[in-house]
Amino acid sequence: ATPTALLVGTGRGAQLGILIKGPEALESTHGIDTVVLDKTGTVTEGRMTLSDVHVSEGESEAEVLRLAGALEHASEHPIARAVAAGAAERVGALPAPEDFANVEGLGVQGVVDGHAVLVGRPRLLAEWSQHLPAELERLLHTAQAGGRTAVAVGWDGKARAVLVVADAVKPTSEEAVRQLAALGLTPVLLTGDNEQAAKAVAAEVGIDEVIAEVLPADKVDVVKRLQAEGRVVAMVGDGVNDAAALAQADLGLAMGTGADAAIEASDLTLVRGDLRVAADAIRLSRRTLRTIK
Ligand code: ADP
Ligand code: MG
Repeated sequence: ATPTALLVGTGRGAQLGILIKGPEALESTHGIDTVVLDKTGTVTEGRMTLSDVHVSEGESEAEVLRLAGALEHASEHPIARAVAAGAAERVGALPAPEDFANVEGLGVQGVVDGHAVLVGRPRLLAEWSQHLPAELERLLHTAQAGGRTAVAVGWDGKARAVLVVADAVKPTSEEAVRQLAALGLTPVLLTGDNEQAAKAVAAEVGIDEVIAEVLPADKVDVVKRLQAEGRVVAMVGDGVNDAAALAQADLGLAMGTGADAAIEASDLTLVRGDLRVAADAIRLSRRTLRTIK
């Protein structure tokens, strides 16, 4: 490869808002036929807000918000931020948890005001034999079918509420997916979120292939599996939980608005976090490679 063409490509990339790790990174786009897109923070804004609070019969909404909000206040997860902010807004000051642990890909657990509190996927609560009443379960599924994220809240051995958070699809995502498809790439949506919520977002932006309910540590295996099928994979992500998959992908693209770990693991960074620039990056590298040949 002629270094000059790669350097010119790198300079042009900077103008487009693409930071390129090394000039060679542009060569990694060769043969890419699949683009894996992380959902939260990549296709969606990643800024969720608390939209609904559903409590089971006899339960106090304020108490649910106080305990769940206090616990989530200790977590950096977008869902946690939405719950903590929404709770503080509705009930005021939140107590500090006496104990807190993040359960990767499932939720959070800890102790607030002497209560053992869980917030997260129903699967997390089920591990402690806490099961949502049928009505709350129905509300949770309805929210998910609408593309929103719903998490369960329980404490002292009982599931008590469902919190719904909404994360809007970025206005540019649909156009970005259309451009990537026009470049001959098959888009795949990858997420730890539930299947229904993932499919609703996929439908909104025009993605047919969805891989959902993937634990953070397993995202890298999904990329490996696609590669084992003979696909050449670009991955776009923003989170700490995307870092290993970004490094494994034939081309890793990080959202500049995302976590440092994701940026470090990637070949390219989309400075403004605009997914359309992923298509610009593929076009740029194809042009650059043509110049080299
Ligand atoms: P993604 O890659 O889509 O952001 P994560 O692996 O971070 O997914 O999370 C997967 C799921 O685990 C979330 O959709 C949510 O249901 C649950 N979860 C994770 N962290 C939290 C948290 N702090 N509070 C509530 N639920 C959580
Ligand atoms: Mg993410």
